[in-house]
Amino acid sequence: MRFAELVDLFERISATTKRLEIRALLAEHLRGVSEEDIAPMVYLLQGQLRPEYEGVELGVADSLARRALSTATGLPEEQVRAEASRSGDLGTTAESLLKAHARSGGETGLTLAEVYQKLTEIARASGEGSQEAKIDLLVRLLSRTGPTEAKYLVRFTLGKLRLGVKEMTVLDALAEIYGEGEPKKARGTIENAFNVTSDLGEVASTLARKGRLDSLLSLRARVGKPIRPMLGEREATLKDVLERMEGRTALEYKYDGLRLQAHVPEKDGEAVQLFSRRLENVSSQFPEIVRDLPKALRHRPAIVEGECVPVDPTTGELRPFQEISRRRGRKYDLEKFEEEVPVRFVLFDVLLEGEEEVMALPYPERRERLEKLVKVGDRVALSTRIVVDNVPDAERFFQQALTDGCEGVMAKSLASGSAYRAGARGFWWIKYKREYTHELADTLDTVIVGAFWGRGKRAGRYGALLVSVYDPEEESFPTVCKVGTGFDDATLERLTKELGPKQAKEKPEGVDSTLTPDVWIEPSMVLELRGAELTLSPIHRAALGKIREGYGLALRFPRFTGRVREDKDPERASTTEEVVRLYQTQVRRAEPESSSEGTEVESGTKGGAEKGPAARKVGEDRRAPGPF
Ligand code: AMP
Repeated sequence: MRFAELVDLFERISATTKRLEIRALLAEHLRGVSEEDIAPMVYLLQGQLRPEYEGVELGVADSLARRALSTATGLPEEQVRAEASRSGDLGTTAESLLKAHARSGGETGLTLAEVYQKLTEIARASGEGSQEAKIDLLVRLLSRTGPTEAKYLVRFTLGKLRLGVKEMTVLDALAEIYGEGEPKKARGTIENAFNVTSDLGEVASTLARKGRLDSLLSLRARVGKPIRPMLGEREATLKDVLERMEGRTALEYKYDGLRLQAHVPEKDGEAVQLFSRRLENVSSQFPEIVRDLPKALRHRPAIVEGECVPVDPTTGELRPFQEISRRRGRKYDLEKFEEEVPVRFVLFDVLLEGEEEVMALPYPERRERLEKLVKVGDRVALSTRIVVDNVPDAERFFQQALTDGCEGVMAKSLASGSAYRAGARGFWWIKYKREYTHELADTLDTVIVGAFWGRGKRAGRYGALLVSVYDPEEESFPTVCKVGTGFDDATLERLTKELGPKQAKEKPEGVDSTLTPDVWIEPSMVLELRGAELTLSPIHRAALGKIREGYGLALRFPRFTGRVREDKDPERASTTEEVVRLYQTQVRRAEPESSSEGTEVESGTKGGAEKGPAARKVGEDRRAPGPF
C-alpha cells in the first residue's frame, strides 16, 4: 500500500466529524488491505505506532521537527518557526512550505511499510546522538513525500494527529467487513478479542490473515498483554444491591488504592509487568510488588488483579489513598518511597493460571482458584469477603469495611454467568460506597473541557473549570457543571500548567456545551467531584432529554475532592447513564417508600446478557427543574 493512499483516507476523515461517515470510510479503506499493512494502518489511524499499553513514543519535540523541516526544504529555521507561529500548526506549515519549496519533485510513492519502518526507527533512537538520528530519519522521510503527506507525518511525529478515530469505530468497521453479512453479531466477537488483547492491530491482522471471524478465537489472554478491566455498576442501598443480585451475593471490601493487573511470567528472571486501569505499564513504580509477587503465587504464569493500597508500616493497617498517589509517576527516589509509603497488593481476581484462561469461569470458581493460588503474606493479600443473603449482615460487613479503612463494598454476582467480562461495565459487580448526609450518594468523575481565568489573586491561573461526563452512545462529553470550589492555589497552578498544551481555540470535537469558557481544553484530565444533588438544567447537556425534554442534568454546589483520577482516561469518566441513575436514586430517596413513582424494581427478571443479574425499569420524573 502506498503511504499516499493512507493520507488520502486521513484527509477524508478530517473532513467529517460524523461517526457513521468515519465508520463507512474505514470499512471502505480497510477492506482488502494486506495482513502486513493492516496493523500499521490501524495504529497510525489512532495516532500511535504500537498498541497504547506499550507506551511507545517517538520523542520528537517541536524544535526537532522544525529543524528537520528546515533541512528538508533548505529554508532557514527562523523562517520555519515564523511560519509555524503564524499557522499555529507545524503540520500545516510543513504542507505549505513543501508546496512552495520542495527540493524533490514531490510525491515519490513511499510505501506505508517504508514509512512505518522509519517511524519505528525514530522511536527506537535513544541515548547519545539520538536527536540527530531522529532528525536525519525525519528529513529522509520528508524529502520523499508530497506536501499533504508531510502535513500528516509532522502531526503524527509530534503526537498531534488527532483524527478522532475511536477504537470502537474501528471495531465497527471491522465488523462490517468481516461480519459475514451480520455485522451486529460479529461486533461482540471482535470487541471481545480486543478486550482480551487490548491490541487493535493484532485483531485486525488476525482477521485480514484468515479472512474469517472465527480466527479471532485463537486470540487468548497472554502474559504481557493487558486485558481490559471488568467494571462495576452502582446501587444506592444495600437492599437494592441484594435485589439486583436476586437475594444472595458475595461482598468484598472495596479498597481505595490503585487497581493493578499483574502479569507474572513462568520463569524466575523474567519481568513481572504491572498495568494500571488505563493499561499503562506502571511496573517501575512498585518494585516491591514486582519482586515479591512471584514468590506469593503457587502457579505461574499467571494474570491476577487487585488493588494496591498504602499500609502503615508499623500497624499494617490501611492508609488513606492520597498517600499512594505520592508514588504515582515517580521516576526517582523509588527506594525512599518504598520505605515511606509501603504498599500491599490485595488480590481480588485471577484471569490466567498456568496455561489455562480462567476468565470464562463463574466468579465463585475463580475465587476458589485465587485462594488456592495465593500464599497470603504482608505484601500480597486476598480481599476480605463474605457471602450474604440479608440486609443486616450486609450492613454489618459494610460498616466493618469502613472501619477498616475501605471506601465501601463491592458486591459480586454468584450466578453461573458471572464470568470475568473484560472491558465491560455491568451489574455482575456492584459498588456501594459510604453515603453522606445532604450529599449525593457518590462522587462523579468528570472531564475538564474548558476553563475560566481567575480574578484577583487567582489572576493568570484558572479560576473555575467547565467539566463534562461521558456519553458512550454519542461518544461525546456533555457538560455537567462549572466548578471552582475545593481547589487550592497550588492545584490551580498545576492545572493551568499541565493543561496549557491541551488548550484549544475552538470547541474540541465531541464536547457538548452551550456555555463558552475562556479557553477550551481537549478532554484528557478526569477530576473527582462531590456535590449536593443533581438537578434538571436548561444549560448543561448531560443526559439531555433523558429525564425531561429540553433539560440536561447538572451537579449543584460541586466541589473538587482533591483527587485527580489519573487512573482514568476521559472515556472512563462517569457516564450519562450513571448520572441518570444517581438522579433517580436521589428522587426515590426523597419520596416516601410507598409512593416510589420515580423508579420501580422488577425483581426476579433476568437482565440483558451484558448488563448483569436483574434489570430495572426507568420511570419518568415529574419534579420541577431545579437550579443549575
Ligand atoms: P470506581 O473506581 O469507583 O469505579 O470503583 C471500581 C474500582 O474499585 C475498581 O476498578 C478497583 O480498582 C476498585 N476495587 C477495590 N476493591 C475491589 C474489589 N474487592 N473488587 C473489585 N474492585 C475493587
